[in-house]
Amino acid sequence: MKIPYRDLSVKDSSLKDELLQAVERVFAHGRIILGPEVEEFEQQVAGFCQKRYAVGVNSGTDALYLALRSLDVGAGDEVITTPLSWIATLNAIVLTGATPVFVDIAEDLNINSQLISEAITPKTKVILPVHFTGRLCNIPAILEIAAKAKQTIYVVEDAAQAFGAHLDGAPAGSFGQVNCFSMNPMKLLSAYGEAGAIVTDDAQLYQKLRSLRYAGTVNKEDCHYPSLNGRIDTIQAAMLLVNLRYLQKKIELRRKIAEFYRAALKDVVTCPQEDDASHTYYSYTIIAEDRERLKDYLYSQGIETKVQHPILMPEHRAYRHLPKFHIPVAERLVGKILCIPNQETLTFQETEYVADCIRKFYGAG
Ligand SMILES: *Cc1c(COP(=O)(O)O)cnc(C)c1O
Repeated sequence: MKIPYRDLSVKDSSLKDELLQAVERVFAHGRIILGPEVEEFEQQVAGFCQKRYAVGVNSGTDALYLALRSLDVGAGDEVITTPLSWIATLNAIVLTGATPVFVDIAEDLNINSQLISEAITPKTKVILPVHFTGRLCNIPAILEIAAKAKQTIYVVEDAAQAFGAHLDGAPAGSFGQVNCFSMNPMKLLSAYGEAGAIVTDDAQLYQKLRSLRYAGTVNKEDCHYPSLNGRIDTIQAAMLLVNLRYLQKKIELRRKIAEFYRAALKDVVTCPQEDDASHTYYSYTIIAEDRERLKDYLYSQGIETKVQHPILMPEHRAYRHLPKFHIPVAERLVGKILCIPNQETLTFQETEYVADCIRKFYGAG
């Protein structure tokens, strides 16, 4: 059996037809740039996140960078974040000119909210937590810490991996002042190219984000803030509207796979906690002893896995000049995490084969 980590090809012919029809509608009306599908997509994303406004952008990276810029984050400001995320999180902070401050993670791979207070200084402007693997971090605690601080501290959710995740009915993206999503093809709600979105309840921030998305211009000409071109493509928005209709189904299927993996694997590796109905399983990330050998063994058995991510953000080459942070849990777990195939199109035989191989590796038969 050959099991890729992710297969991004569109095999379902009725879905393919729907996607092509959506693209054809865009071709027919011809409003390729910020066409009506963008607006429709933004309305649906905002509604989904229980926020007033959404701004479609070109990527999750743009979403993070523009969200920070909308809050005037820049040189002299500190942004508290996790060391374990895709490097885009850190790049966005650093590109604003702000200084990143890393707070260690907990065993669930998310930022440890109990350690955040002691990292706050008079320069702290933003706490930027990540809902890593599609599991919500302890966002209520983080909001409380921000609210209790002496100065104004904004919370910006990097919800790139968590569209559709909930906490007691409140969706990822509904918590902070400005919140960011990626809809790149790897994500659960995925486009067929780069895409992302930002949500907020604040009308002024909304206007500023729309401006920042297009060279910082007002009325498309006069530049008020130096910025990038971060517009979402109408064609991507049109296809995202199709995929939005199937998101809930996808999440349910991924939860079923997670349930199966947990039952089959919990005595040989550490599985994501099961008490958490909110998890969308962007990835099914296990914590495994002897990870490298397990990864190689699975590969030899035809199973492709992925380490998301093998290098902690502050340890990338570009960031080696940063001061050292006390992040022992992240340093320990980064060598043990492994994402195993969990996409909703896997058959039961395939997930069973993955679980069997992992059990065999640990001599559990
Ligand atoms: C995917 C991702 C991003 C960046 O999104 P892109 O759309 O790829 O630019 C940022 N943060 C996290 C946690 C991500 O997983």
